Amino acid sequence: MTDSTVAETDSHSDTAVSVQQVVKTYYVGQPVHALDDVTFELPRGSYTAVMGPSGSGKSTLMNLIGCLDTPTEGTVVVNSQDVTSLSDRERTRLRGEEIGFVFQTFNLMPRLTALQNVALPMVARNVSRDRRVERAQSLLGRVGLADRVDHLPNELSGGQRQRVAIARALVNDPTLLLADEPTGNVDTDTGATIMNLFAELHAAGNTLLVVTHERRIAEHADRILHLLDGELERIERIETPRRPTVDSGEGD
Ligand code: ADP
Ligand code: MG
Repeated sequence: MTDSTVAETDSHSDTAVSVQQVVKTYYVGQPVHALDDVTFELPRGSYTAVMGPSGSGKSTLMNLIGCLDTPTEGTVVVNSQDVTSLSDRERTRLRGEEIGFVFQTFNLMPRLTALQNVALPMVARNVSRDRRVERAQSLLGRVGLADRVDHLPNELSGGQRQRVAIARALVNDPTLLLADEPTGNVDTDTGATIMNLFAELHAAGNTLLVVTHERRIAEHADRILHLLDGELERIERIETPRRPTVDSGEGD
């Protein structure tokens, strides 16, 4: 393997995520095979959607790639690191520094303001307070919430909360963004803002994996992984991915 034309750095191959023969079984009385022999790779810089009926294993898959859980069998490799062989501490570091996770249910801290929620992941990285505030404000501005920084989650609409959650996911500049139904509970305008932001992140070279039940949303990606009963039923290539209409300028 001494192909001199391959000039990639060792630690960062062309593959952002590799999922190999992954099985995830939950034991609650009867075993539930949430994922059953799932294998695929996400090339670095790719934009992939995940579709499938409720209960087909979408969130389970996101949790495994997002280092929130480990597979029963098989391997999950993120940025050349085998998640299954990392210690809890190393997994937390990988998750904090290289992965942005947008949860289906937002998972904001109810007693922290929008600004504090977005700034929180930087605390673990010893970023100075001034820098945290500056960075959190800038990201909240980017998702159109510059005038809501001091609001608590329950003082924000569903769409605004989702945008806070997205700002928080981006705060450490992750190379891999995982989003579980990011447009599931938001209005059309917020949905468009989110898809615009994802398109920008994709254009900037980040790797995106987005769960959605909306075909229209999935078609923004380069390809769609179709899950059914925990199995990867097929991988569909999107010939001409949708790109968001670029008329949603800053407006007001
Ligand atoms: P989806 O996100 O596609 O709706 P999930 O990944 O949440 O599906 O769930 C896949 C299957 O695994 C479902 O049958 C669900 O009931 C089961 N499951 C998910 N999480 C757990 C858990 N923590 N304990 C037991 N079963 C679970
Ligand atoms: Mg789910």
